[in-house]
Amino acid sequence: MSKPRQVVVIGGGPAGLMAAGQAAAGAPVLLLERMGRLGTKLRLTGNGRCNLTNLAGQDDFLAHFGESGLFLRNAFARFFVPDLLAFFEGLGVPTVVEEGGRVFPASNDAHDVAEALARFARAQGVEVRLHCRVARLLLDGNLVQGVALDDGRQIAAEAVIVATGGASYPHTGSSGDGYRLAEQAGHRLAPIRPALVPLAIAGPEPRAMMGLALRDVEARLMLDGQVLARGLGEMLFTHYGVSGPLILTLSGPAVEWIGRGRLELAINLRPALGAEQLDAELRAELERHGRRTFRSLLKALLPAKMVDVVAVRTGVPPGKPGNQVTAAERARLRALLQDFRLAVAGHRPLAEAMVTAGGVDTRDVDPLAMASRLVKGLYFAGELVDVQADTGGFNLQAAFSTGYVAGRAAVDYVTREETRR
Ligand SMILES: Cc1cc2nc3c(=O)[nH]c(=O)nc-3n(C[C@H](O)[C@H](O)[C@H](O)COP(=O)(O)OP(=O)(O)OC[C@H]3O[C@@H](n4cnc5c(N)ncnc54)[C@H](O)[C@@H]3O)c2cc1C
Repeated sequence: MSKPRQVVVIGGGPAGLMAAGQAAAGAPVLLLERMGRLGTKLRLTGNGRCNLTNLAGQDDFLAHFGESGLFLRNAFARFFVPDLLAFFEGLGVPTVVEEGGRVFPASNDAHDVAEALARFARAQGVEVRLHCRVARLLLDGNLVQGVALDDGRQIAAEAVIVATGGASYPHTGSSGDGYRLAEQAGHRLAPIRPALVPLAIAGPEPRAMMGLALRDVEARLMLDGQVLARGLGEMLFTHYGVSGPLILTLSGPAVEWIGRGRLELAINLRPALGAEQLDAELRAELERHGRRTFRSLLKALLPAKMVDVVAVRTGVPPGKPGNQVTAAERARLRALLQDFRLAVAGHRPLAEAMVTAGGVDTRDVDPLAMASRLVKGLYFAGELVDVQADTGGFNLQAAFSTGYVAGRAAVDYVTREETRR
C-alpha cells in the first residue's frame, strides 16, 4: 500500500474539483481522474459556453429540482449562487447574466471555468493524478480505508469523496463507475434513466424540418389528451425528432410516460394570441392577399421548412388562391398553428442525455455533510447522487454546492479523527 493519504477525491469534474479544493484547506488531498484532462464534460457545457448557474430566487431555484430539491436545501444554504459568483470572480472569471437568469463566464468559454477550477484545486495544494481510474473502494466493515485502481494499485485514505458524475456522454469519462462504487458500499440506487434528453418523433416530418429552430413557442406534453407538462422556449427539429431547451425540459415526464399511452407534443407557434384573435388575423391575411396561392401565404406565416409540412396537414391544395380558402380550411390552419401535434415515439439513449436521472439514493446520504449513512469516511457529490434539474445552470450549481459541502465535511471528519487518536 502507498503512504496513507487523508482525503481521496474520485473524479475531476466540477463537483470533484470543488470538493478537493475545499478539503485541501485542512488536509492533504489526492484527486484521481481517469481521463487525461480535468473537467472534460464541463468544457462541453452550455454549447461550450458553460451555463454555470442561474439567478432564480432560492424557492424557484429549488423548484427546478422537483422532489430532489428538498435534499439540496442544506447544500444551497451553505454555498449558493452569490458564493459561486464571488468564487469565480476571485479566480479571475467574471460572469454575465443572460435571458432566464442564466449565468455564463463573460469570456463565453467553458474552458475558462474548467481551467480556473483546476488552478484553484492545485493552488490549494491538491495533488492531481490523471489517467487513474478507481475500480473499487477499500472498506473495512463500515469504515473506508482507501481505493483500488483498475491496474490493481491501492491508495490508502481516511476519507473518500466519490464525484464520478452520471452515465451520459460516457466519452467524457462519466460512464457510471460511481454507481458501482456506491453499491459496493451497500448504497441503494434510484433507477438510472436519461434526463434532459432529445425525443424521437414518429414519421418523416422531423427529417423534413431538420435544422429548424422555433423560438418563443409553447409546448405541451400530452398523455391520451391530458396535459402532463408544459413550457415556453426554444425547440429544434432534428433528423430523428426534436431537441432544444424546451424539449429537454419536458423530456423528464416524457421518459417516464413513454409506452404508457398516446404521448404527444402539442406545439403552439402563436402562444401570445387567443384562437379568435389568430383566426381574425388569418382571415384578414387571406382577404388582403386573396389572389396569392395558399402556399405563398403560408410562406409569410411560417418558417420555410414548415410550409410544406403544414400545407399537407391542412389538406388545402397549395395552389388554391387565398380568397377561395374556406372557413373550415382556415380553422384547420389556425389549429395547426396553435396545436401542432407530434407523436412521441421514444427518447434518445442515455449516452446522449445531458444529465443522468437517478443514482445514489438520497435516503442513504446525510444532506448536512453529503456523507454516507452506511460507511464512515465516505462522501458523495455531484450528478451521481439522485438529484437532477432542468436546463438553466441548475445542475452545475448542484455539483458545486454538493462538492463544497462534501469537501468541507470530509476535512472536518479527518481532523476529528486525528484529534481523537
Ligand atoms: C453536453 C452537455 C451540456 C451541459 N450543459 C450544462 C450547462 O450549461 N449547465 C449545467 O448546469 N449543466 C450542464 N450539463 C450537465 C453538467 O455538465 C453535469 O451535471 C455536471 O458536469 C456534473 O458534474 P460532476 O462533477 O458531478 O460530474 P462530471 O462533470 O461528469 O465529472 C465526473 C468526473 O469523474 C471522472 N470519473 C468517472 N469515473 C471515474 C473513475 N472510476 N475514476 C476516476 N475518475 C472517474 C470523469 O472522467 C469525470 O471527469 C451539461 C451536460 C452535457 C452532457
